[in-house]
Amino acid sequence: MIWSRAKVFWVVLLGTPMRAVRFEADGSVESVNVPVPPVGPEDVLVQVLAVGVCHTDLHILDQVASGARQPVVPGHEIAGKVVKIGSDVYMINAGDLVAVHFEQPCGQCRHCRKKRTNLCREGHSLGFDVQGGYAEYVKARQDTVLPLPPEMDPALAAPLGCSGATAYRAVVALGNAGEEDLVVVIGAGGVGLSAVQIAKAQGARVLAVDLREEARKAALDAGAESAVSPEDAKVVRDADIVVDFVGLGSTLELGRSLLGVGGRYVAVAAGAESVPMTATDIMEGGRAYLGSYSSTMADLARVVSLAEVGRLKPFVTRRAPLEDAEKVLSDLRDGKIVGRAVLEPTAV
Ligand SMILES: [Zn+2]
Ligand SMILES: [Zn+2]
Repeated sequence: MIWSRAKVFWVVLLGTPMRAVRFEADGSVESVNVPVPPVGPEDVLVQVLAVGVCHTDLHILDQVASGARQPVVPGHEIAGKVVKIGSDVYMINAGDLVAVHFEQPCGQCRHCRKKRTNLCREGHSLGFDVQGGYAEYVKARQDTVLPLPPEMDPALAAPLGCSGATAYRAVVALGNAGEEDLVVVIGAGGVGLSAVQIAKAQGARVLAVDLREEARKAALDAGAESAVSPEDAKVVRDADIVVDFVGLGSTLELGRSLLGVGGRYVAVAAGAESVPMTATDIMEGGRAYLGSYSSTMADLARVVSLAEVGRLKPFVTRRAPLEDAEKVLSDLRDGKIVGRAVLEPTAV
C-alpha cells in the first residue's frame, strides 16, 4: 500500500514529458520538455492543435526578460482536442474539438458569480501566469472550453479566443452596436479587423481609421465602408460607437471628437498618455466612455457562432510548427506578419 501510494506520487510528480516553448528570464525563447499537466477533478486536458501568435506574447516576453514576470510557456489563443477529463467534468467529452478561453477565473468571487469572469482577480490566465498553449497539451477548467463544430479548422478557431472575443466584447457587449449605427474602428490590426467584421454582422456601417495603407486595405476587404487616415477621419461628427484599439492620447482625442450625441467611446488598448477632459466634456450630449477588458465565455461563444456561419474570418496568413516559435515571434516584432500567424504543436 505504501509502495503504491509512493508510486502514484512519483508518476504525478514526474508526469509524462511533452514538448513546449518557454520564455526564459534571459529573454530567450527555448524549446523545452515539461511534464504534461496533471488534471484536477474539474479540469480537461486539451491536445493543442493550433495556438495563435499574438502581439501580447511579445509584451509577455519583454516582461519576462525585464524580470517583471516569471518565465512562462506562453500562448493564449488555443484550439485543440480534449484528450482527458477530470472525475467531475460533465460539460465536455474526451474527443471534442474545442476553443479554450485563456481566462481561468476562480469561479467563486462576486464577479465570477455574476458571470463577469473577465473581471475576476483571483484566477489565472493561460500563457500569462500559468502554462499556455505553446505546448503539446494544456490544462483548462471545464467551464473555459467551448465545443467547436467538428469541421472547423483549429487554426482559424484559435484566434477567436483572444482577438475575436476581445473585439466582440468591445463592439457588441459594451458598444452595443446595432443596425444603422456608425461604428468607427481606430486601429485595423488583428483585433481591429475582427471588430470590423463583427460590427458588419451587427448591421452597422463601419469606418476604419489607420495610418498604414495596407491596414486600411485589409479593413476594406473585411467589410468596412471606408478606411481613412486619422487626418481624413476628422470630418466625422456623428459616430455612434468609437472603438479605440490603439490607446494613444491622439487616438483618444480623435475618437472623442468623432462621437455624435449619445455616442459611446470604448477603450480596448492600454495607454499611458493623458488628455485634458472636463466633466462637461463627459456629460454634454450624453456620451459614454467605457473600458473593455478581456472577454467572457459568452463573448467567445458568440464569435464562434459568427465564425461558424462565415461572418467572422480570422486572417491567418502563416502556419508553422511549434519549433519555429522564436522565428515567428521575431518576424512579428519586425512587422513582417500581416494578419495572424498560428503555431501547430500537434498538427494532424
Ligand atoms: Zn492575444
Ligand atoms: Zn473569480
